[in-house]
Amino acid sequence: MDTNDLFFRKLPPVSSIAERRQALAIILEQLDFERIIKPLDKVAIKTHFGDVNNTTHISPALVKMVVEKIESCQGLPFLTETSTLYSGPRNNAVTHLQHAYSHGFTYEQVGAPIIMADGLLGNSEIEVAIPGILYKKVKIARDAILADSLVLLSHPTGHLATGIGAALKNLGMGLSSRKGKLQQHSSIKPYINNSKCTFCEQCLKWCPEQAIIPREGVAFIISEKCSGCGECLAVCKFNAVKYNWGVQSEDIQQRIAEYALGAVIGKREKCVFINVLADMTRQCDCMNIKQKPVIGDIGILGGYDPVALDQATLDLTRRNTGKDLGAMSFPELDPNVQLSHAEKIGLGKRKYKLTEL
Ligand code: SF4
Ligand code: SF4
Repeated sequence: MDTNDLFFRKLPPVSSIAERRQALAIILEQLDFERIIKPLDKVAIKTHFGDVNNTTHISPALVKMVVEKIESCQGLPFLTETSTLYSGPRNNAVTHLQHAYSHGFTYEQVGAPIIMADGLLGNSEIEVAIPGILYKKVKIARDAILADSLVLLSHPTGHLATGIGAALKNLGMGLSSRKGKLQQHSSIKPYINNSKCTFCEQCLKWCPEQAIIPREGVAFIISEKCSGCGECLAVCKFNAVKYNWGVQSEDIQQRIAEYALGAVIGKREKCVFINVLADMTRQCDCMNIKQKPVIGDIGILGGYDPVALDQATLDLTRRNTGKDLGAMSFPELDPNVQLSHAEKIGLGKRKYKLTEL
């Protein structure tokens, strides 16, 4: 089987959980789990629990089906996540787990435990060697590396830094340690547009680096202290925080692609990738807001190549609406950068064969 064979099952534009479960069952049946997962393999399922007010993340009911599929191969599934850089309940293991339970990712509902791959505070990591262009070593969450196999269950959305956030983003940012996330963000230095700043002080309260100070009646960012986490952009309601995304987006997309390679290094043949193209919103599931989809539901994609999977996500969204998910969400950004860089470093191929089921 070619690694870039993809399987796709269509969904109606407004699909129910039952319809998504039917579609996922067909995809899971088609994917060759028996070849990939051996008895007693410890299998990480990486998904996203959604931020506090997010309602469009992948449902626990779908995650449960993946758990059962792994168990049918006698594998040992666990859900995994990493801490965020920014403030909030997802920035350490204790409150992240409490939060995940509150969104329904309990053992009772999903059938598997959650193990935070980067430990209590996000600093449990393994530095792995990669044949990258920007990096020769990347810092990946320790237990993501120790797992025998990986099932990446991603929810494509638009993304304010990378155009789209799908499998590559879920891998690269989602499975890096805190230091790894910092390294990926480090070129992003925001600044304040003084004419828009009302000095509501929200960004001062949320900045994890205390890099924002009052100056002449508005907020001011001390560039040297800023880690580039993007929290200020997320909390400012007045559109006063600015980034030079044109250049910086390309930079962060390339870094994410290299970290994505690091996350699967040593088990590239032991990975399965699934993208759920439903409830696709302009902003990602990290945003602490309830959002409406920017596009109708399209379907569920599965395969063995995360680059092909994200390419097909762009192509299928374009096929349905005339514009792809990135262009619908952040037209000023070009999400193709992450795909071409990932292909260049050997993570996968953009060319694929799609089998519609
Ligand atoms: S959150 Fe926005 S408006 Fe409020 S102080 Fe910060 S930059 Fe100014
Ligand atoms: S100023 Fe820098 S460190 Fe502080 S919230 Fe903004 S991006 Fe993060």
